[in-house]
Amino acid sequence: MAIIIDGKKISQDVRNEIKEKALHLKEVRGIIPGLAVILVGDDSASEIYVKRKENACREAGFLSKEFRLPADTDEKEIFDIIYKLNRDETIHGILVQLPLPKQINPESVIEAVDPKKDVDGFHPYNLGHLFTGDAFHNSCTPSGILELLDRYGIEIKGKETVIVGRSNIVGKPLAMMLLKRHATITICHTRTKNLSEVTKRAEILIAAAGSPEMIKGNMVRQDAVVIDVGINRLGNGKLAGDVAFSEVSKKASYITPVPGGVGPMTIAMLLMNTLNAALI
Ligand code: NDP
Repeated sequence: MAIIIDGKKISQDVRNEIKEKALHLKEVRGIIPGLAVILVGDDSASEIYVKRKENACREAGFLSKEFRLPADTDEKEIFDIIYKLNRDETIHGILVQLPLPKQINPESVIEAVDPKKDVDGFHPYNLGHLFTGDAFHNSCTPSGILELLDRYGIEIKGKETVIVGRSNIVGKPLAMMLLKRHATITICHTRTKNLSEVTKRAEILIAAAGSPEMIKGNMVRQDAVVIDVGINRLGNGKLAGDVAFSEVSKKASYITPVPGGVGPMTIAMLLMNTLNAALI
């Protein structure tokens, strides 16, 4: 039976450490890390995420500024806010909550953010510099996954690692970050042939497809480390990951649950990026 990786606990540990560092930063240098969150429209899931981010900021002793804009806001209005925040010395991190309403191009909005303040790590400058290792900030969910592996003492170097999913926010940046840590990487997607043959090779298997319980027990190598990034809301309102937990946990050596695995790490790493931004 697999060891269950406790993302909730690790995330709280990280947040406590960040709180201590923030206090120290305030005492020694008079700097309070500040995060601005821009929310456009009334997407209910986004509302919940933004609330959680604000609460996490407050708990860490950060300054938190929130901009709530109606769904019919035009791009120019968002750009004006971002340009002001880029110049605001009390704000170190700027986060535009996605998804944005249809009339707004998310790429242009993300590109308007100063890369030093792009604490989501979505700016092309930061994504591009993932290749050279010089990004100001790495994407939060992939960073959270690395943090979990490290804190459980799971070796990455030389490991046969398979990622299911190639999105710009999870699969691709994660692949680069793991490559930097000397893993051997395979990225799978919807056109991958014989998916289970590929996943079965993985010593570390990371599922980030957004497809409920698609990774079954027979797709997993004995004693693999299985990281489930998926968050899927089922018809009955319950959350499911991309991994069929009950069968896979019998075969894996380590596994993350959903909820309580990767999810809580994303906010912790957002705080970490904001703290680091305050130090730039
Ligand atoms: P996207 O929809 O942007 O990307 C999904 C990727 O998975 C695509 O590359 C797609 O392939 C691939 N894929 C989908 N279905 C299959 C399949 N059956 N077989 C092989 N590959 C497949 O999703 P995200 O990366 O944004 O998110 C993935 C999941 O992670 C979601 O459940 C999301 O909610 C969750 N998530 C969780 C976070 C957290 O904090 N824990 C943060 C971000 C996301 P193709 O490119 O060919 O279409």
